[in-house]
Amino acid sequence: MAFSQLGLSEKVLAAVAAAGYSTPTPIQEQAIPHVLARRDVLGIAQTGTGKTAAFVLPMLTMLEKGRARARMPRTLILEPTRELAAQVEESFTKYGAKHKLNVALLIGGVSFDDQDTKLTRGVDVLIATPGRLLDHSERGRLLLSGVELLVIDEADRMLDMGFIPDIERIGKLVPFTRQTLFFTATMPSEIRRIADTFLHNPVRVEVSKPATTAVTVTQSLVKTGREPHDKRDTLRRLIRSAEGLKNAIVFCNRKREVAVLHRSLVKHGFNAVALHGDMDQSARMAALDQFRKGEATILVASDVAARGLDIPEVSHVYNFDVPHHPDDYVHRIGRTGRAGRSGTAITIVAPSDQKSVAAIEKLTGQTLAWADAGTSKPSDDLAPSSPRPHAREHRREDRKERRPFKPQSAPVSRIDEARPQRRAAARPRDVEPVESHLPAFLLRPIPVKA
Ligand code: AMP
Repeated sequence: MAFSQLGLSEKVLAAVAAAGYSTPTPIQEQAIPHVLARRDVLGIAQTGTGKTAAFVLPMLTMLEKGRARARMPRTLILEPTRELAAQVEESFTKYGAKHKLNVALLIGGVSFDDQDTKLTRGVDVLIATPGRLLDHSERGRLLLSGVELLVIDEADRMLDMGFIPDIERIGKLVPFTRQTLFFTATMPSEIRRIADTFLHNPVRVEVSKPATTAVTVTQSLVKTGREPHDKRDTLRRLIRSAEGLKNAIVFCNRKREVAVLHRSLVKHGFNAVALHGDMDQSARMAALDQFRKGEATILVASDVAARGLDIPEVSHVYNFDVPHHPDDYVHRIGRTGRAGRSGTAITIVAPSDQKSVAAIEKLTGQTLAWADAGTSKPSDDLAPSSPRPHAREHRREDRKERRPFKPQSAPVSRIDEARPQRRAAARPRDVEPVESHLPAFLLRPIPVKA
């Protein structure tokens, strides 16, 4: 099918041609005509499928008619993270260059007053993270009663981050009659419940099974010892011996580990940047920018910070920690092998990680192969704990390596990621926090005399 058959406006078709897209992706082909017909849509799709354009292109077409009123946005897009929100804004800039629409971004870590000034001028498209949106609304600076279309993007990530109560509050502030587009990569029961409350007679569009991994990604497991030092050592050897490594994302489960590992890699001469939830907005954007431009080869990241980011052509993904949730594995390795390119995903497995590996294999229906890259520890490393002769030295080196660590930037914003009590209370009991929300100073390692 061609883009011209989807019902998009001439201006939008010209923008699509200028972007160099020849055919719509499956999610675009299936969703766009329904969005234009004002139907609610439940889209089950991961990032990398072209889902952003699946809502941005029809929105641009629809917004060509009508004008925005002060403080009353016409459309609202909710994103779980600032980076994703900024990325959607970029899509409006890219596809909507000729539309002269007012697009505003309400995210934490950015001046409240500048955002307020933009709202006063009238906004066609408001892109927001839930916390900052509610802050503006509670101050009476924003009226959501004019919203004709609501997009809830990455709903399952909103759930992981404890944003569902905020989303439900926002749902009460927008008109009942609005159109809703709801995107999620997975469909746990809580997301099904939320989708049922938000959507009216939706069209369901599913582009691939939620838990499939791209066939273009070569996946393998590498054994390592139990100490953090062993894992860092294994990672360095893997990176140094990797074939065809252009750039790599290294995932950790916790933001403290991101900071420690980043520091360690830099110390060992790697060109690495970090991305985690304790960095302020400008530091996060700067790191991402360096990585996108190829100025940094390695991005050390947490799931929350890296979810859904559009970073083209990542050749390697390393799981420094095996993710606790198998869904996160699918998302992580989805950073490589995009758009038919080949990619490599290597997971470093410590003895205590076997259960998590089994959960990944169950979800994906694939058995992951153990790589023999000369990097593996002997297989008895996977046996239950027995003190190894050099454990003490490892610990000592670990402390030595961690001693100079200082948080890379000030603890962030009062917004979104930094509303610990509310977020923790909001998080369903079965969802473990992916990043800890302790203040950074509590996470700073304490130097201990050897
Ligand atoms: P997304 O899933 O929205 O993160 O999009 C992933 C990537 O696909 C982005 O870099 C888009 O620019 C690109 N893209 C979106 N639609 C198309 C299309 N129809 N043809 C080729 N690339 C596309």
